[in-house]
Amino acid sequence: MLTLHRGSHHGLRVAPRWPSRHIQIDAEVLQRLLEAQALLPAELRLLLTRGFEPRHSRLGGFRRLVRRLGITLFRTCYPQRHDEADAIFGANGHDIDGRHIDVSLVLRGKRLRLLPLGVFTPPRWQDRRVARHAEAVARVKHSLQHCGFELHHNPTEALQIHCDYRPR
Ligand SMILES: [Zn+2]
Repeated sequence: MLTLHRGSHHGLRVAPRWPSRHIQIDAEVLQRLLEAQALLPAELRLLLTRGFEPRHSRLGGFRRLVRRLGITLFRTCYPQRHDEADAIFGANGHDIDGRHIDVSLVLRGKRLRLLPLGVFTPPRWQDRRVARHAEAVARVKHSLQHCGFELHHNPTEALQIHCDYRPR
């Protein structure tokens, strides 16, 4: 397991999601992320934002609290999307090992905010943003899949971009 701090690691950008100060991932996952990035044009870069977060840690406790509040709020905002709450707010493997990561996109030096309001971003806004950056998003997803990453089945979570490393 590697511990990465904010900055660049072998050319991969790292920006831990608040309140984390570092990201833990498998050494093999870093290698595969670098390979995925190498498949992209130079103007399009990956940004690692989340990795392994041990359940029994202050961070794990904080995430659980946020998750509980988030589920309540999400169900209030989107009563018709009730069944998505678990997919969106579940730990999604981040509490298991360093093979579950969230990635963001940097296009021409600017981070693409596909979810300006986080997971509360209305689906219609999500569609509009994805449409605007359709090519970049498709390229990144394709290169990640090519390097052994599986994207999340939930469309909102897939924009996080949550993926699981599952080598074939
Ligand atoms: Zn995730």
